[in-house]
Amino acid sequence: MERSLNTDIETTLMHYTPLTVCAHAIRTCWQSFDKSDNGGEKDLALIDRVGNKYKHASTLEHLVYTFFISGISRALLQELARHRVASLSVKSTRYTLKELKNSEPFQEEDYENAKKFIVLTHNNLIDTASIKALNNLQEILKMGTSNDIAKYCLPESYKTELTWTVNARSLQNFLTLRSNKSALWEIQNLSKKLYNTLPKEHQYLFDIH
Ligand SMILES: Cc1cc2nc3c(=O)[nH]c(=O)nc-3n(C[C@H](O)[C@H](O)[C@H](O)COP(=O)(O)OP(=O)(O)OC[C@H]3O[C@@H](n4cnc5c(N)ncnc54)[C@H](O)[C@@H]3O)c2cc1C
Repeated sequence: MERSLNTDIETTLMHYTPLTVCAHAIRTCWQSFDKSDNGGEKDLALIDRVGNKYKHASTLEHLVYTFFISGISRALLQELARHRVASLSVKSTRYTLKELKNSEPFQEEDYENAKKFIVLTHNNLIDTASIKALNNLQEILKMGTSNDIAKYCLPESYKTELTWTVNARSLQNFLTLRSNKSALWEIQNLSKKLYNTLPKEHQYLFDIH
């Protein structure tokens, strides 16, 4: 299977700022409120011209998006967390390993059940190694080891989820860097999903590869 077809990632847009707020912020600079068409074509062109073409990009920071992102690996999470201009609230392995502890051990090639806990690469060698790591971890948890210690043998493929809040300027930077072919395949998938989750009327401010 093509890695780009991985569809485990789910993105939900929970909240976003209307474009009129950004247009108003820009118009504050020139006191041109009377030229607004209340989020119509004039205002949309103004945001693109000032924010993108004139590089007065701080005006784009008035547009803020909150996404719920699930089904990503902790390998992807550590790359996402490198984007400092964003806020993250992440599912904690310190508090949530009980769900793995309480499930049954996985058969070596039981990808279907294991994918509740791990992101599959569709490379059997790798996915089987992840299942072995899951089973090892589960055994350690069942022995009564605390999550704080046990979590150190989590595989990078272990699934996580987070609420991610980012402004349009930072999201532009993220999408440019992470939808590029040189980025990790999974974060490329996330970039495309995030772009598709944006309100249609906002997408003109963003480019993806
Ligand atoms: C293809 C690819 C490969 C990568 N490989 C590696 C790797 O091997 N190792 C590794 O460690 N990282 C790697 N990274 C991560 C990369 O170095 C950045 O940490 C990550 O992409 C976040 O980008 P950013 O700093 O632009 O974003 P943010 O942290 O969100 O920052 C946004 C913008 O704010 C400004 N800014 C933020 N902080 C500062 C600051 N301290 N000083 C000045 N300006 C600042 C910059 O303009 C920056 O672009 C890779 C990234 C990509 C896309």
